[in-house]
Amino acid sequence: MKALVAVKRVVDYNVKVRVKTDGSDVDIGNVKMSMNPFDEIAVEEAVRLKEAGKISEIVAISMGEKKCEDTLRTALAMGADRAIHVETDESLSPLTVAKLLKAVAEKEQPSLYLLGKQAIDDDANQTAQMLAALLNAPQGTFAAKVELNDNEVIVTREIDGGTETLALNLPAVLSSDLRLNEPRFVKLPNLMAAKKKPLEKTNPEQLGVAVENRLQTVKYAEPKTRQAGEKVASVAELVAKLKAAKAI
Ligand code: AMP
Repeated sequence: MKALVAVKRVVDYNVKVRVKTDGSDVDIGNVKMSMNPFDEIAVEEAVRLKEAGKISEIVAISMGEKKCEDTLRTALAMGADRAIHVETDESLSPLTVAKLLKAVAEKEQPSLYLLGKQAIDDDANQTAQMLAALLNAPQGTFAAKVELNDNEVIVTREIDGGTETLALNLPAVLSSDLRLNEPRFVKLPNLMAAKKKPLEKTNPEQLGVAVENRLQTVKYAEPKTRQAGEKVASVAELVAKLKAAKAI
């Protein structure tokens, strides 16, 4: 059984992204880039399933500029067997990414698709759902627990106020939530060994997918700065202030 795991190269979660002064975009020149944290969780889950003997091959895939190779090498160091880089300098919408994944899947025929629940740069939370729709495959988004059997996958999903458990026929599309697992730390020897693992290159044209952007960004803005708080000396003073502000 094969798993296809999508890993996106995004601005590292520790970086505070600034908006350009003209509001046309965000300034990410020279900032640290990393694998999308939810995708690390997706890779980790695939590796655990392989270690448990449930799947035999993990293929990591990333779409975007040349530097996505670094992200794929990290996935290989974590335990993926081989990687596919769909190289393009165009900006990719979730729908285009889903179409590219579908095009690759036609050749790869995976039983399980593992994605992150959202990319922390665009926060779209759309790709897994769109891919499932394009493939006409069942989806288990926001996965918190995954149990893989021969013909089905049992997924416990995070939903408002609790969890929901679904049994999905294979092939199925899953998206990882935070509680699914804690990704392993990548050790240097594994990174070195990952350099020898196969990394295949392709591009949207070869896959027959037109990169079209149906989204137009109107403007970017910094979130409003929060007003400073105020310390009060007593409960009575707090109540008086709340009354004066007509909050109670
Ligand atoms: P999004 O729908 O943009 O929030 O992304 C959800 C998930 O889709 C991510 O966590 C990745 O697993 C996958 N994904 C999105 N864009 C890419 C990309 N350019 N390359 C690889 N995977 C991607």
